[in-house]
Amino acid sequence: MSNLLKSIIRPEILALSAYHVPSADGMIKLDAMENPYTLPLILREEISQLAEDAHINRYPDPSATSLKVILRNTLSIPSEMAIMLGNGSDEIIQAIALATAKPEAVLMGVDPGFAMFRIIATFCGMNYVGVPLTANFSLDLDAMLAAISQHRPAVIFLAYPNNPSGNLFDPQAICRIIEATPGIVIVDEAYQAFADATFMDMLTQYPNLLLMRTLSKLGLAGLRLGLLVGRPEWLAQLEKLRLPYNVGIMTQLIAERIFQHYDILLEQAAAIKAERTILRARLATMEGVEVFPSDANFILFRLNEASRIFQELQQYGILIKNLDGTHPLLKNCLRVTVGTSDENTQFCKTLRRILDKPLQLA
Ligand SMILES: *Cc1c(COP(=O)(O)O)cnc(C)c1O
Repeated sequence: MSNLLKSIIRPEILALSAYHVPSADGMIKLDAMENPYTLPLILREEISQLAEDAHINRYPDPSATSLKVILRNTLSIPSEMAIMLGNGSDEIIQAIALATAKPEAVLMGVDPGFAMFRIIATFCGMNYVGVPLTANFSLDLDAMLAAISQHRPAVIFLAYPNNPSGNLFDPQAICRIIEATPGIVIVDEAYQAFADATFMDMLTQYPNLLLMRTLSKLGLAGLRLGLLVGRPEWLAQLEKLRLPYNVGIMTQLIAERIFQHYDILLEQAAAIKAERTILRARLATMEGVEVFPSDANFILFRLNEASRIFQELQQYGILIKNLDGTHPLLKNCLRVTVGTSDENTQFCKTLRRILDKPLQLA
């Protein structure tokens, strides 16, 4: 590596590996928790019309006022709470880390957890502390409380349901953490639509609680819109770090229009939940496959030689996520996103074929 590069780039950036997104050209794509369904034609036509009429020569509304009104109503956001929008919720995580990154400040998460918490903490100059989950991926409350008193985190991120495990943590344990920590807790509800559980009602109760949502897993991953909900005094500070026009005009217009038909998104989420039940049951019948419970739109499972099986699936044109080797608790674990009925069937058939194949002797 050139000396110039090494002298200019911060050491923690040099040490970081870039977030890897594999190519999915022509594959059945079940790796990224995307909603597999398209929108009804009539709604897509309305979106075309919006694009035709949009004043893209002008900057977007920097405060996205009308979009926030409809988000507040459809998502039942308490009236005393403020909303901040991000270009995806990843950008909100970044704003929180930038705002809290005093020298030596700690951002705490759980491991295995959402990789971006660690990556963003690191590039914002924070110390990331990941507290291990138990073997069945539940919160280890004692370990969390001990880590909180040892590290005094400025920020704790908890995904509810958790990614990559798919389960909901015990809400009472989360409350204990909110009460014990000297800093703020962000409950990341990226998968809320598939879970029937939320901390939205707890916001008024805890002054150090913030709640994050995203439209990505709900069918709008390509639009890039995430939101943070919390007390106005917190959000007023975080707003200073939000770049003025971070949510573009097309995202604002399209998200607003789609949220006028929020029932469509909810119907799609319900269909995904029904497919999840079928997919879990099928995986559970496969010999040697251990399936974990899921309240999200993906399923974590464990089987022997996971990395080899992941590669074989890929050779058959099916892309899922290999988690083997990313954390000791994820040994031999793979994660599959719930797709359409056809995609799930293809995936199960192919997996069965791989598992039934007699081992080839070298
Ligand atoms: C996917 C995901 C996000 C990121 O969502 P974007 O809004 O697309 O940036 C945030 N948190 C968790 C836990 C996720 O799995």
